[in-house]
Amino acid sequence: MPEQVIRGLGVSPGVVCAPWLRFGSQLETSAQDPVGGPPDEELARVKAALAGVADEMAARASRVDGVAAEILSMSATMARDPGIVAAAEKELKAGMPTAHAVHLAFEGFCAKLEALGGYMAERATDLRDIGGRTIAVLLGEPMPGIPEPGFPFVLVARDLAPADTAMLGGSDVVGLLTSEGGPTSHTAILAKSLGLPAVVNCPQTDKLVDGAPVLLDGSTGEVVIDPSPERQQAAAEQAAADKARLAAASGPGRTADGTPVHLLVNIGTVDDAVKAAPVDSEGVGLFRTEFMYLGKASEPSLDEQTASYTAVLEQFAGRRVVVRTLDAGSDKPLPFLDLGTEENPALGVRGLRIGSVFPETLATQLTALARAGEATGADLWVMAPMVATADEAAGFAALARESGVRKVGAMIEIPAAALRAADLLAHLDFVSIGTNDLSQYTCAADRMAGSLAQLLDPWQPAVLDLIAMVGAAGTASGKSVGVCGEAASDPLLAPVLVGLGVTSLSMSVPALPAVRAALAGIDIQRCQEAADAACAARGPQTAREVVAAIVGRA
Ligand code: PEP
Ligand code: MG
Repeated sequence: MPEQVIRGLGVSPGVVCAPWLRFGSQLETSAQDPVGGPPDEELARVKAALAGVADEMAARASRVDGVAAEILSMSATMARDPGIVAAAEKELKAGMPTAHAVHLAFEGFCAKLEALGGYMAERATDLRDIGGRTIAVLLGEPMPGIPEPGFPFVLVARDLAPADTAMLGGSDVVGLLTSEGGPTSHTAILAKSLGLPAVVNCPQTDKLVDGAPVLLDGSTGEVVIDPSPERQQAAAEQAAADKARLAAASGPGRTADGTPVHLLVNIGTVDDAVKAAPVDSEGVGLFRTEFMYLGKASEPSLDEQTASYTAVLEQFAGRRVVVRTLDAGSDKPLPFLDLGTEENPALGVRGLRIGSVFPETLATQLTALARAGEATGADLWVMAPMVATADEAAGFAALARESGVRKVGAMIEIPAAALRAADLLAHLDFVSIGTNDLSQYTCAADRMAGSLAQLLDPWQPAVLDLIAMVGAAGTASGKSVGVCGEAASDPLLAPVLVGLGVTSLSMSVPALPAVRAALAGIDIQRCQEAADAACAARGPQTAREVVAAIVGRA
């Protein structure tokens, strides 16, 4: 059979060619299944199955760390929720077969979460995953999830639950291909953090041929079914050349003609900081402080915050650390900042806006940051998330400077801020573009909605135009313009961003070598040519193609 090319969104760079296997699907249950023993006995089995699943999740959490550990611990907590047991008991008493009773109990909770939308709706995937595992235990069937064939393979799935992506690290998976999911999905973020090539949102995975290998390119999104031996050979050579090229580049980021582009990493916890410190980077470009407090019921005190920030900053003595003040609300609710129910949380009180509802919280955080900055040798920069206007930027800058922060900036995540970047910069020392939210708000597409992935693509010309406006404002004022959203980790996009005036890129640790190498191979003039061509393109795919041709030109 001749090779066939299908396409998705490349979200984690690298080329891989291997056999493919589908993710173990969930077991079906039905009200017509045979009923087991008396409800009390069956309830005891359900409780034991849930406890087993919770223990397994907790055990897995202890074998990994960082985001993966957090996700698995959260899943373990969900499996222990008494509400699930109560709902299953009700179904059992109504005469439902045991596995189906569990299915109905989980689905009831999932429906409620989905009705809430956004971040809460995404938790339904985690909950459904726990339900599936519990049902597998009850039926004595193999766990749904990642196959363990004992040889390297490309994992094919609709989308992956966080609990499964969290287990990719120690598995035989060498690449990921999903039919759903977007550039900011868990699959994309974790694949990138593990350095696994990944293509998401590729609806034609049903065309894959049993027993034939698949070749995927995590940069271009191209997927070749049953590639010819020549193509396989070329891919192997490219992978080897890429590896050698990555190994050859080190040190501060710069283009081939020596234009500096600061290469920084994204972190969210003290643990991340400890792990990122030995990495060859120029510091931290985004410290998401809210990640430290996502599960906390009460607000961390000034002393507690000072201690945590000091622990992070001291890891980077002599290097830049860009800290973002709490970006709570919408997809990242913090239990201790009760914002009430909002019709439209992504357009509600979030990011810097929280400072007007909880002014003391913002003031305390800024003081803690300034103290931590003084106590360590790190070059502390502090920025506010979700700034919309120049007045907001001015207000934040005044407050931060009064608190003792010397370098003050804002994230550019809202089109209004990009359009008036020059006005914002008049009050600030720097800006950093959050392309995840900027894409969401530019194309009015929920960043959690995998089905809208095409609209969330940072290669959308409208998003690039906005980045260009910010870049121009930065160049005119001589101030630093960073990118710290997922777009910063795309090695093909990096020259475009630099050509648009971006002076630093911040990304997950594994993405850094490829971006460094991409920049080292191209001079600033060609970056500008790539930027012009990308902005002139009619859509993301054409933009990628024209830029790939410019970057690849001898
Ligand atoms: C962004 O929006 O691009 C960003 C970096 O912030 P977050 O993903 O944390 O919202
Ligand atoms: Mg954001």
